[in-house]
Amino acid sequence: MSESESQPKKRFPLTLDFVTGLSGRSKTGAHRTHSTQTATRNVNERSANARPLPPPTIVSKPPSPAWVVDRPGHAPLVSEAVRKAMVRRIAQQGIKDAAVLAAMENVPRHFFLEPALASQAYVDTALPIGYHQTISKPSIVARMIELLREGVDGKLGRVLEIGTGCGYQAAVLAQVAGEVYSIERMRPLHELARSNLRALYIPNLRLHYGDGMLGLPQCAPFDGIILAAAGLDVPQALLDQMALGGRLIAPVGQRSQRLKLVVRIKPHEWVADLLEPCHFVPMRPGTFG
Ligand code: SAH
Repeated sequence: MSESESQPKKRFPLTLDFVTGLSGRSKTGAHRTHSTQTATRNVNERSANARPLPPPTIVSKPPSPAWVVDRPGHAPLVSEAVRKAMVRRIAQQGIKDAAVLAAMENVPRHFFLEPALASQAYVDTALPIGYHQTISKPSIVARMIELLREGVDGKLGRVLEIGTGCGYQAAVLAQVAGEVYSIERMRPLHELARSNLRALYIPNLRLHYGDGMLGLPQCAPFDGIILAAAGLDVPQALLDQMALGGRLIAPVGQRSQRLKLVVRIKPHEWVADLLEPCHFVPMRPGTFG
């Protein structure tokens, strides 16, 4: 049976919600955005009209396994296959941790981008998400999570992410950790991440709006802390919130940045290594919005 016979009311162009089967999103109009600027504006408008937001976690059923983006006028993009190809390229770049590669394969990155950018979702590049912020490059997401997991058998325990952005890395982390807490300082991006993640039903992920430089002392200690924005160095508050034996990975520096890996070896002793160069948006103090 052809598609038009089975679903006669379908209109073109198809929305991403329609093709992914996540119809709950299309009802609210969530994520129907057409530029970086409108992405954040729409979030603001939605929040202005919205009922009070529920507590952070949102889950009841697993997402549909079929993630397909198909646009009139473009070659069809079957994102599961394209995502697998991206993960193969990441593995070729040296990421060996099978759990990280599986997590990258599980999370539909295009889902965290506005429709106009969705076709670039599986290119290994950072992309705009509004407010001069970006979704991180997939290979650096994989690299940082692999560093966080080094020496860990099975799942990481409790992990804190600073800089939720659109929520992509938080979703990947949630596949390899028991509990994930993620903080964002920009309210519109916190709301965007909340809206992106709501439809994915991730039970072990909690989003917080606030200044990540202060960490989340009420949920500490953390077995892993990952920073998605670069400061001159790692804030002491975050070092203090690491569990004994816990690991922290952060971009540090201004124009020239490097990844810094910190391990807490004793209550008052941390060891740190400076690793490869990287490029992240700056970490800023306080909140916005
Ligand atoms: N984790 C994202 C990347 C987000 S970009 C991903 O999945 O791709 C970095 C984010 O860090 C931005 O959204 C920025 O607003 C946020 N940020 C910068 N300083 C921060 C701070 N002090 N606390 C929390 N978030 C911060």
